Amino acid sequence: MSERLEETLKRALGDRTAATLAKLGLTTVGELLRHYPRRYGTPGEFTDIRSLRTGEHVTVMAQVRSATVRTMHSRGGAMLEAIVSDGRDTLQLTFFAKRTGVLRMHEDKLRPGRTGLFTGTVGEYRGKRQLTHPDYLIVGVDAADADEAIYEALRPIPIYPAAASAPTWRIARAVRTVLDPLQEADVPDPIPADLREQRGLPTLLESLRLVHEPEHASDHERGRARLRYEEALVLQTALARRRAEHAALSAVARPARTGGLVDALDARLPFALTQGQHDVGKEIARDLAADVPMLRLLQGDVGAGKTVVALRAMLQVVDAGGQAALLAPTEVLAAQHVRALRALLGPLGDGGMLGGADNATRVVLVTGSQGSRERRAALAEAAGGAAGIIIGTHALLSETVQFADLGLVVVDEQHRFGVEQRDALRSRGERPPHTLVMTATPIPRTVAMTVFGDLETSVLGERPSGRASTATHLVPAQNPVWIARTWARVREEVDKGGRAYVVCARIDPTEPPDAVDDSDADDRLDLEPAKERPPLAAATEVAAMLAERREFAGVRIGLMHGRLSAEEKDAAMARFASGETPVLVSTTVIEVGVDVPEATAMVVLDADRFGISQLHQLRGRVGRSTAPGVCLLVSSAEEGSLAYERLAALAATTDGFELAEKDLELRREGDVLGAGQSGRSSLRLLKVVRDAALIATAREDARKVIDDDPTLERHPALASAIHAWLGGDQEEFLERA
Ligand code: ADP
Ligand code: MG
Repeated sequence: MSERLEETLKRALGDRTAATLAKLGLTTVGELLRHYPRRYGTPGEFTDIRSLRTGEHVTVMAQVRSATVRTMHSRGGAMLEAIVSDGRDTLQLTFFAKRTGVLRMHEDKLRPGRTGLFTGTVGEYRGKRQLTHPDYLIVGVDAADADEAIYEALRPIPIYPAAASAPTWRIARAVRTVLDPLQEADVPDPIPADLREQRGLPTLLESLRLVHEPEHASDHERGRARLRYEEALVLQTALARRRAEHAALSAVARPARTGGLVDALDARLPFALTQGQHDVGKEIARDLAADVPMLRLLQGDVGAGKTVVALRAMLQVVDAGGQAALLAPTEVLAAQHVRALRALLGPLGDGGMLGGADNATRVVLVTGSQGSRERRAALAEAAGGAAGIIIGTHALLSETVQFADLGLVVVDEQHRFGVEQRDALRSRGERPPHTLVMTATPIPRTVAMTVFGDLETSVLGERPSGRASTATHLVPAQNPVWIARTWARVREEVDKGGRAYVVCARIDPTEPPDAVDDSDADDRLDLEPAKERPPLAAATEVAAMLAERREFAGVRIGLMHGRLSAEEKDAAMARFASGETPVLVSTTVIEVGVDVPEATAMVVLDADRFGISQLHQLRGRVGRSTAPGVCLLVSSAEEGSLAYERLAALAATTDGFELAEKDLELRREGDVLGAGQSGRSSLRLLKVVRDAALIATAREDARKVIDDDPTLERHPALASAIHAWLGGDQEEFLERA
C-alpha cells in the first residue's frame, strides 16, 4: 500500500475528527476511503417514514413542513418542534434549550420547503414518532452560491454507515478532505492495467471518486461495479495462488488395485451403490491414483451416504499399502464411525484375528478420553501399520500419534475443524497425504466457488432410495394446546416403536443463554437482545419436566449433552438406540452424523436460536429408515420476523441446496463467510449470490494472472491487496476446508 493511504487519520484530519472516525474502526486514510457509502440519497426522493421503527438509529431524507419555537411555561426553558414529511407521513423533530436563542438558529435553517438529512434514534411521544435533537444537514444551504446550491441539490448524497457520534455528512466531509488531493500514484491499483482496459474499468482512484463524490447515479454504479470486481479478483487470485502452490506439491500415488479390499467390500455391501456414490467414487479413485495431493470437498446432504464413499477411498489407500485417518468432530461420532465401518467391513476389518479375511485390515479408535491401555494399543497399531484405518477426534492430531504410512486424511463434517488442525496432519510425514473433506452442510455453488475455490468439489446428489422423508412443522411456543399436541405426537411415535430427540439450546438454566452447547458460532444468528425473550429451555430442566408430563407416563427419558464424559455419552446413545430411553433430551451434540435408524421424531425447542443449516442437520437425524419422520420446530418467533421466515423456509423444503441458497438470501450481508468476518476484512460489496457471474469472470482472470506470474512478483499492488485485505482472519477462511 502506498504511504499516502497508510497515513493515519490523526495526521490527515487532526485529533478530533480522527477520534470520531476511530469509533467506526477507521484509523488510516486507506481505511476511510474503503468505508463506502451504504446508499445514496436523491433530493426529492424521500425516505419512507412509515417504515421507520422505534429504537432504530436512522438517517432520514425528508422535507421540512414547519418549525415553531415555544417557551415551556410548566418546565421552564424552550423547545422547537419541527415537522418533516416524505409527502405522505410525518416525523417530528424536537429540540430543547434553556432559552429560545439557540433554537432560533435551528428555526432559521429548518425553513419549510427545504430538504434535509436528519439523523437520530426514533423515539415515540404521545403516539407520534420523533427524533430528539437530531443531527441534520440541509441540502444546499452550506453552498457558496446559488449555482452550487442547485448543483448540491441535484447530486446523489452519499449516506455512510454512521454512528451517533459520526453522522454521515461528517464522514463525507472527512472523505472529501483526504480524497481530493490524491493523485493516481498515491493509489496503487490492484487490478492489472491490461485487465482494467480489457474490462473497461476505471482506475481505483477514479472509482473511489465515483462512489464517494458521484455527480450522477450512474457514477456510483460504475464505481461500485469496478470495486466489486476488484474484491472478486483479489479473492480469486488468492485462491488461484493456493491452488498453484498445492499443485506443485507431490504426494504418493495410491492407485486402485483389482481384487483388493475395495472389491471385497463392494461384494459384501448389503445395498447397491447409488449412481452418485459410484460417480463420486470414480473421481476420488482417480485423484488418489495421481501424485498430486488430492484436495477434494465432498458435499452430500444428510443421509446421502458419504460414509461408504469415504470407506471405499480409505480402502483404496490401504490396498496400495498406505493408511487412512478419519477425523470426526466429536467422540460420539468417532465411536459411531468405528462401529459403522467395522459393521460394513465385517471380516475385512478383522486383520490378524481368527476369522479375519486374508487381506483384512484393522480399524482403531484414538480419542482423548480413552483409557491409557486402550490408547497405547491403538497407537502401536497406527505406528506399526497393523491398523489401516485410524479413526479419532482431534486427539489424532497430537504429535504422539505416529503413522506407518499415512496416505489419506478424511475430515468428516469439516465445519468443526480449523485449518491449523487439518494442516497438522497434512504436514505429517515427508509428503502430504491426500485429503478428502466431507460436509453435509450444503454449500451453494457460488459460495463453494468463493470460499472453497481452492478445492475440487464433488456433490453426492440423490439419497439412497427407499428412505422416507421428514415433514417439518412450526409450533408456536406460546400456545399450550399446540405444545400439548406436540408431546402427544412424540408419544405416538414412541408407541409405534420410534425414538424421539428433544433438542434444547443449552444444558442447564445456569448456563448463559448464548453458550449454546457445542454448536457452531458460524451458524448462529444475530439475535435480538436477550432480555425481551423468555429464558431458553435447558436440557436438564426439560428432561425433568417431560418425565412429569402425562403424555410420557411409563416412558423413560434420556439426557445427553456436551458435559457428559465420553462413556456417559456412549451409554446414553446406546440406551436411546436400544429403546430403553426412547426419548432423548439433548443439546446439539447430536447434530452431526449420528445415525439411529429408529429415530422418527424430533422436537427442537427455541428453534429460532439455531441457524437454518444447523436445523437442517438436526432434522437429518430422523427419518433415516423407511418410516417417515416428523420434525417439530417450537419457537416464539413472531410471524413476519426474519427468524420466523427462516423457520418457514426450512419447513417448506427438504432440499439442502435450496435451503442454503435461501439462507444466504436471508442472511445479512457479510455473514456469508461465517463468524468473525465482519469489519474491515470482509467482503464489502460482493454478494455471492447476486455476483455469481462476476465471480466466475474474476476466477478466470485470476487464473490467467497466476499462470503468468505465479508469485505475483510483477503484480505488487495485487499481491499487497491480497495481503492487506485477506490478512489475519481472512486467510483462515480460505483455509477452512
Ligand atoms: P451421511 O452422508 O449423512 O454421512 P451415511 O453415510 O451415514 O450418510 O448414510 C446414511 C444411511 O444410508 C446409512 O445407514 C447407510 O448405511 C445407508 N446407505 C448408504 N448408502 C446406501 C445405498 N447406496 N443404498 C441404501 N442405503 C445406503
Ligand atoms: Mg456422516
